This record gives sequence, C-alpha cells and structure tokens, in this order.
Amino acid sequence: MEQINEIADALSRLGVELYPGYYNFVHYYPALDTLPELECLGKITSIIENEEREICLYIHVPFCSTACKFCYYPKRVGANRSQVKKYLQYVEKESQILSRCLKKNKIHSVYVGGGSPSYMTAEEISCLLHMIKTYFSISNVKEFTFEVEPRTFNEEKLSILLKSGIDRISMGIQSLDDSILSHYRRGHCAEEAVAKSWLLRNSDVRTFNIDFMYGLAGQAIQDIIYSLNFIEELSPPSVTFYQTWFASLGKKCVGNWSKKALPLENIIVMKEKIHSSMKQIGYLLNNQCWYIKTQNEACLHFKFRWDDNPYVGIGQAAYSYVNGIAYQNMKNHFEYFQLIDKQKLPIKTGKLLSNEEQATRATILGLKTNEGVCISEIEEKYGVRLMPSIERFLEQLCGLGIFFRENGILRFTDNGVFWGDCVLARLMDEIIYGHEGREK
Ligand code: SF4
Repeated sequence: MEQINEIADALSRLGVELYPGYYNFVHYYPALDTLPELECLGKITSIIENEEREICLYIHVPFCSTACKFCYYPKRVGANRSQVKKYLQYVEKESQILSRCLKKNKIHSVYVGGGSPSYMTAEEISCLLHMIKTYFSISNVKEFTFEVEPRTFNEEKLSILLKSGIDRISMGIQSLDDSILSHYRRGHCAEEAVAKSWLLRNSDVRTFNIDFMYGLAGQAIQDIIYSLNFIEELSPPSVTFYQTWFASLGKKCVGNWSKKALPLENIIVMKEKIHSSMKQIGYLLNNQCWYIKTQNEACLHFKFRWDDNPYVGIGQAAYSYVNGIAYQNMKNHFEYFQLIDKQKLPIKTGKLLSNEEQATRATILGLKTNEGVCISEIEEKYGVRLMPSIERFLEQLCGLGIFFRENGILRFTDNGVFWGDCVLARLMDEIIYGHEGREK
C-alpha cells in the first residue's frame, strides 16, 4: 500500500487526475465532446467506401428500463414497443445506406451495445440480428457480442441470441448490494443479478463477461469483497471492474449521498483489493479494468479497435473511425430520424485527424492493449514525430515505473496498469488542451 500511495502522489504531481473525473474508460480519441461539425460531410459515403481494410461494426440500442444515476451513455428510458419498432426501422435504413459503402470490407466483429439491448423483446432481438445478417456479410466474424442487463435478460432471449450466432454476452451487474443498486436506480436487485449470471454460466455461450463498478458513493469495501467471493464461485470467463468517476463530482450525481462520496484512499484500497484478489483467483489483467481467465476470453472487438483499426457505428449517437475520420451519429433521436429520412447518413460532428493526431490516437489506444505500442512504427506509419510534450510525459511515466520499454515496445508495467485509464486520460488532455490539462 505504501508503494501505491507513493506512486499516487507522484502521478498527482504530474497532473494525473486519480479520480478519473472526465473519462472513466478511455476508449475513444479525440473525446466526443470536442468534435466540431464535420467539414467533409458531403463526401462521407465515398470516404467510408474507400476504406478497404477489415472493419468492425457497433450497433447502438439506446433503450433502458431505468436511468441509472451514474450513466453517461445515450439512452431512452421506458420506450414503448412502437418506439422500439420505429428505431429498428431506422437502424435498418441506416444499415442499407452503409452496406453499399462497406461491400468491399470484410467484417472482423460485431458488437451490439447500449443502452440495454436486452430491453428489446425476443422478437425484436431476432429482427435486429436478422437485419444485421441481411445487410452485412458476417458469417465469418471473429466475435459477435450482445450486451444484456439482469432484469430484462431471460432464457427465451438467451436462446434467440445463441441461435442467431451470438458467441459473447456481456452483462452489467455493477454491485451486489441492494441499497447501492436501488439508490443508483439500477433496474435489478442482487438476487436477479446472481440468477442471471448462473443462467449465463450454465449456457452454451462461447464466452461471457460480467461488469462491476467500484468507488461508488456509499459503497463499502464489503460489497467488493462479496462480489469477489461471488466471482470466485461463478468463475466467469471475463470480468470488468470500472472505477466510477462521480465520487469527485458530489451532489450533482449522487444527491444527498454526496456526503457518502468516498475519499481517494478508500478507492485505492478497493482497487488494490480487486487487483490482488482477482490475481489470486486465477485472472489475468487484460487491460486496465478487464480481467480474463485465459487469453481466449479477451474481447476481440475492442482489441481490434484499440489496434488502430477502423470501425463503423450504427444507430443513434454511435461513433465511428474510418479512413482517419472520427465522427459521431446524431445524439438526438428526432435528428437521427430526420437525416435518415433524407437518405443521408445521420452524421453532423466529426473530424479528419491530422497525421499527428492519428499517431497520438494510435499510441493512446494501443497502450490499452497488453502488447503495448511501438512508437517508432507508429511514427513511421504516419510520417510524424509524437508531440514533444507527450514524449516527455511518457518518459516521466517510465521513470515512475508505470511504463517500460523493451525492444522498442512501450507498455504498462504490472504495477503501472493499475493506473491505466487515469494516465491515458491525462495523455488525451495533453494533446487536446496542452500541458495545463483540461480546465477544471
Ligand atoms: S442500464 Fe446501462 S445504459 Fe441504461 S441507464 Fe443503466 S448504465 Fe446506462
């Protein structure tokens, strides 16, 4: 613990926000809230069409039963069946436009996320999955993931998913403490979470993942210990522990629970407990928050994206990265529908990244992978040098033992990975906002 606290102090001095106050999960660059109106919008379909590499697809299903207090994902709560049907019709129209652009691409993997895709009925799920197969050639995809939440997931939906070729299911539990689940307005209780986890465990799905959160205001270390015991018993192939970010934001998100916001020391104790216990019960840390039983359980879809490969998002607010352009679909569903009605892709914001930005993007996201990155290869690929301030920051982090270089490859050390997303968020701030970081 003493060593962890020393590193925490050193990182704070380098401007690393140890509460990940802005990005709790660095997975996109540039940050979506910084994207301007896309200048080359008129040419976007031909730009997508010219991307001939292998590509992966993400389909956003924005429906949820409740609005969890900590959630920043684009979602629609309590939609009725006709609203879901209408949304699926527009996803189909968007898929139709995109399928013409992507006909030369081989699809690497597909990820259906949300929201809570299991909010759809079995029939709606079947319709969406059939639609994906109609418009895209996915018979040889390496992975097909579908996200579920405990309340709306059941045996009937599981059976549809398996019959439709889903081979990876990811379920968000977040906590096994009913007072936490109810305070944060999760749609399920601990008993349901446990029952649906066993449903997955006893199914024929190739692999599955369970999500937990730590650092929630009001959360006790006992909740973490209970979750770790449950993980040991269930032995899921993959588990994620996300550190929450709003403990530092207090009242805005947690209301009168703001006085229960955890001090940083408690969050570090939880993090350390998770890290050491998961190792002890036989899990490998695959990236900053993802624990897997064997390398076969790693999520191929995210690995592909972090390895500087293109991906296309379909649906309201979905985001994409194709041919050096990062862009996002309309966040508002009316605007999303309106643009599709005009036979256009539903895009407004995005940016053609400079070579320097593409190199930075490849570095930040590549550092999330266990393999790390070869900076000289990235520099050669994009014909630029990394920004001197980034180089300097990386050197300082090597000095602190967060990263190490071996045969030209830069990667997190075993201890460094503990601070993963906090460090990467600081790197993002460095390029977007300069060495002063983002205005607090
Ligand atoms: S179920 Fe998931 S997407 Fe929906 S509000 Fe809760 S955290 Fe957000």
